[in-house]
Amino acid sequence: MLKLQDSTLVRTENYVNGKWVSGSAGHIEVLNPASGRLVAKTVDSNAADTDAAVEAAAAAFKSWSTIPAKQRAAYLRKWFELILENADDLGMLMTAEQGKPLAEAIAEVNYGAGFIEFYAEECKRVMGDIIPTVANDRRLQVYKQAVGVVGCITPWNFPNAMITRKAAPAMAAGCTVVIKPDAGTPLSALALCELAHRAGIPAGVLNVVVGSDSQAIGEVLTQHEKIAKFTFTGSTAVGKILMAQCASTVKKISLELGGNAPFIVFGDADIDEAVAHCVATKFRNCGQTCVCTNRIFVHETIAKEFTEKLQTSIAALKVADGFEDGAEIGPLINAKATQKMDELMADAMAKGAQLLLGGARHELGENFFQPTLLGNINDSMRLANEEIFGPIAAVQTFSSEEEVVTKANATQYGLAAYFFTRDVGRVMRVSENLEYGIVCSNSGVFSTEVAPFGGWKQSGIGSEGGKEGITDFYETKFHSLGGI
Ligand code: NAP
Repeated sequence: MLKLQDSTLVRTENYVNGKWVSGSAGHIEVLNPASGRLVAKTVDSNAADTDAAVEAAAAAFKSWSTIPAKQRAAYLRKWFELILENADDLGMLMTAEQGKPLAEAIAEVNYGAGFIEFYAEECKRVMGDIIPTVANDRRLQVYKQAVGVVGCITPWNFPNAMITRKAAPAMAAGCTVVIKPDAGTPLSALALCELAHRAGIPAGVLNVVVGSDSQAIGEVLTQHEKIAKFTFTGSTAVGKILMAQCASTVKKISLELGGNAPFIVFGDADIDEAVAHCVATKFRNCGQTCVCTNRIFVHETIAKEFTEKLQTSIAALKVADGFEDGAEIGPLINAKATQKMDELMADAMAKGAQLLLGGARHELGENFFQPTLLGNINDSMRLANEEIFGPIAAVQTFSSEEEVVTKANATQYGLAAYFFTRDVGRVMRVSENLEYGIVCSNSGVFSTEVAPFGGWKQSGIGSEGGKEGITDFYETKFHSLGGI
């Protein structure tokens, strides 16, 4: 059984209008992906439950959006502090429902809290404009006003931070929110609500509806007349459906979608550094992040040394239940995800990939897959074109900068890209030429609440984090004041 310091953080009902309420569609069993054991049973909800949450958010909007930003900031600050105080418990809840190693889960809680702190500060600095007038009897002003109720749908791979990255800027701007977390990982979302409640955030400002019928709930969040903006993090395929659904009410929309990140190692790179960052970006969260390295391109002159060192590092990774000390690779999220690894492996091997390490299910359980290294990858293979979303590292070689940049860009995705070189001219050229929203040179570490995170092409619309992350939660109003 999960033993938290504060067991009252385990909430299993919807949080609507400041109250814990049941859903109308039965129950959802939240299972630990490492063991398959039941973590908790939550309510399951339908469209009517979601509609009630939207009504609550709409009713709360007027007062929340008109209190001074400084006051909203104080509520958010309190929420942030409570999250930090409870970070260990929140991390344990996340490991139990999502599977990632506990150290990674606690790191996510702290990262997620950073968005609340940042936007509590940022909302005090969102300015309108006074424009020099074009006629002496008129004055021209531009206001920034909260957009209204925001509908959010979030994925299972970051059950905490994908919520705070949306809710914090929205709430800071004066919006109220209705969130549908992934049905597999609702406990982190509900624990955040418990702490928001303790922080005194007024009823109706933050609402979470848990439901397994994501289509029905999604239809409410994308089509409801009282929702002004919709924001989604998840796959590109689902993002396209939701974007189309938003058209009927012309909602403002933000999408954080899938990726296919290249990791390029030029011949002059620091190989040991590149290997260490490659392992970190490939295997974080068992390879299940949108910015995980997906295609590894290594210059032919260093390919042998790089690949051997990569193999040694991958072989040293500790695969274990996320609660075990030193665990580095936990389970995949479910059987379907593990099945996908089998399929990607079979496809790659049939098309000539070279198996260097792993390649099969792990003995620890049905959701575990061995950390895997493949060489001799070519463009015809599925894993060169799709998000792998699992612990398979796939290496291919290149001979020129132009060739590798062209290959790196030859994808519908444009989220994150990594490259390693010590040549400063190349750093500038490649960072400018990669068609990605996030480009990371000589490091695999970049996530921070103070900078914009968002995809180009079919990886998304808009940015979360940084000063950009709050702008979409405001409408711009031009006030032309006459008769002076
Ligand atoms: P997903 O299948 O698109 O699901 C994401 C969310 O959408 C879940 O809450 C899911 O609910 C819901 N959903 C699924 N179908 C829906 C529908 N027809 N209508 C309304 N909601 C629907 O993606 P995932 O597999 O959970 O997450 C992994 C994907 O997210 C990857 O592609 C990854 O790259 C992307 N991602 C992107 C970012 C970013 O910042 N760009 C960050 C993290 C993840 P249920 O599961 O409860 O049905």
